[in-house]
Amino acid sequence: MRHIKHIEHCHKKYINKLPEEIQKIIDKSKIQYKDLLDKEKLNIPTYSKINIDKEHKQSLENAYNRLRHELIKKYKQNNDGYHCAYCSLDSSQQIDHFLPKQEYPELTVVCYNLVPVCSVCNGHKSSYLVKYNYHPFYNKLFPEYLTLKIEKDKFDSITFKYELNISLDKSLKDFLVRLDLCSRYEDKVRNKFINITRTLIGISKEASIDNLRTMNEPVNYEWEKLFYTEMINNIDIIFDYCQREYEKNIKVATH
Ligand SMILES: [Zn+2]
Repeated sequence: MRHIKHIEHCHKKYINKLPEEIQKIIDKSKIQYKDLLDKEKLNIPTYSKINIDKEHKQSLENAYNRLRHELIKKYKQNNDGYHCAYCSLDSSQQIDHFLPKQEYPELTVVCYNLVPVCSVCNGHKSSYLVKYNYHPFYNKLFPEYLTLKIEKDKFDSITFKYELNISLDKSLKDFLVRLDLCSRYEDKVRNKFINITRTLIGISKEASIDNLRTMNEPVNYEWEKLFYTEMINNIDIIFDYCQREYEKNIKVATH
């Protein structure tokens, strides 16, 4: 919800300068949009489009360009403060219209529709329309839509697999596949795992769990929280892996 407050603040400055009839369109769409969100159902079919003419579309586009400039400047100043609302892997450098402005021009500057995103997510999503009651400001991806599986493979290595819930709505699934979230999270946790095992090698199972809990404490992002939680849930295979690495190191050291 922090995203919304920040956007609304920047927003007022630009909206007040627009012609009154456009402000009315924005207010009307904003109320409609907010209504859907409050019911925690961004149900696209029940959102009724407001027709606007070419001239008004252009005014909205101009207002958006000024607003976007201001928002992006703010994100860059708060480097760590505004992570991408889709993946939370990177800081926000761009704005995405959750309901694409090509299809919903009346939502061009409606704050609930302006999603701060990283350039990777923005490029992947493009003008895709999610026809499902999901909105990144209100709905969490984990564990309902995405889960993490930690397993030992036949080479005794540890594998990390983020998976989409199989019963997921097709439109939401297409959206998450488009963003390529699973493989992006997997890359991230694989590197994380390499760093973490360095601190776990040679210590007891109980001490490993304590370490993982402490590492999880300050974490803000769901994909990362799930990683630590699943590491603890799978402590037996993690501990065995660390033991094998420990023994390998001892062999190397004594040769
Ligand atoms: Zn992103």
